[in-house]
Amino acid sequence: MGIKSNIGVLKPVRPKEKFLVFGSPVIGEDEIDEVVASMRSGWLGTGPKVARFEEDFRKYKNAACSAALNSCTAALHLSILAAGVKQGDEVITTPMTFCATVNAIIHAGATPVLADIDPVTLNIDPDAVRSRITPRTKAILPVHFAGRPCEMDEITSIAGENGLKVIEDCAHAIETEYKGKKAGTIGDFGCFSFYVTKNIVTGEGGMVLARNESDIARIKVLGLHGMSKDAWKRFSDEGYKHYYVVEAGFKYNMMDVQAAIGIHQLKKVEEYWKRREAVWQRYNGAFEGLSLGLPASAAPDTRHAYHLYTVLIDEERGGISRDEFLNAMTANNIGVGVHYLSIPEHPYYQKAYGWKPEDFPNAMKAGRSIVSLPLSAKLTDEDVDDVITAVKNCLGV
Ligand SMILES: *Cc1c(COP(=O)(O)O)cnc(C)c1O
Repeated sequence: MGIKSNIGVLKPVRPKEKFLVFGSPVIGEDEIDEVVASMRSGWLGTGPKVARFEEDFRKYKNAACSAALNSCTAALHLSILAAGVKQGDEVITTPMTFCATVNAIIHAGATPVLADIDPVTLNIDPDAVRSRITPRTKAILPVHFAGRPCEMDEITSIAGENGLKVIEDCAHAIETEYKGKKAGTIGDFGCFSFYVTKNIVTGEGGMVLARNESDIARIKVLGLHGMSKDAWKRFSDEGYKHYYVVEAGFKYNMMDVQAAIGIHQLKKVEEYWKRREAVWQRYNGAFEGLSLGLPASAAPDTRHAYHLYTVLIDEERGGISRDEFLNAMTANNIGVGVHYLSIPEHPYYQKAYGWKPEDFPNAMKAGRSIVSLPLSAKLTDEDVDDVITAVKNCLGV
């Protein structure tokens, strides 16, 4: 049998006094004041602050147009619909993603098709994408995993050759760039998340970037019950305006209270990025030569968003299984995450699509050995030292 775990005898060397919560965001006084101002104004729902956040984000990303929504999941769902994907169409995506990516395809009425990942970058493999194309394929939905851009030149040329739309899941990729282009502006649509653990936060929140104004207009209509444009203005002092329902839409609009946080978070996006990059480099230096796999570094002519710092636990080399490592880190008061068990590990997809983890071996292997260490701009130098100490302790070095 394999090497016995030494976890039973491990005692935290210097256990961190307080549990380090994984992915805890930095919230400043500016955000707090802006939220309070929204509450005092009485305008809590979709209003001027949402419009401002949309515009600030559009400028930051150098995009043609933008629409704020209440999540990245909503952004993905509506982008897929706006891409013209219909019942029975197929959308190709990665097995190494959050379930929301796949669920959005399903809720748009389409069939998700998985293409395995590159084992080093953990991003969707363009050759695998090519091999999964059928006459029913309508779109490719790449995920810039951990903030490292996918091979977008290859993906956009596959899309061009086959008349497919490209929808980028940029939940990890707010700051990501690829050959001078910003993630989310390379494909037809880019979908972003401002969930609490993401690089900038609004609590819950999302954004779509699109090339065409008409696509964004449709997404805004679909995101607010299918009501005709600017229905939110109907209670303003410009006089009563009737609205007309033009599609069976959804309730996906962002609130001003959320945008109030986002406006100030966005101003600090580069400062946070620099901090996460510094933490990333500290981890790389500290873990060099240890018996664990380190994340792929940024490729030339790209910018990594440093959303996740993922290590691969190799039981043969390290003498500890991935799940034992998760428990041991938690016992050391360090919060860790798993991004992700591959999609075919989940019973729903096995039942609905007959997927087996073994059919996507690279994603299966990564998903069974991966651990995300804390990588938030909130981490102090001492927190980072504690994470490093805990990792070494868990590996028995
Ligand atoms: C977080 C995440 C989502 C969903 O984002 P929400 O804003 O929570 O809906 C989608 N895809 C990926 C890859 C994510 O990490």
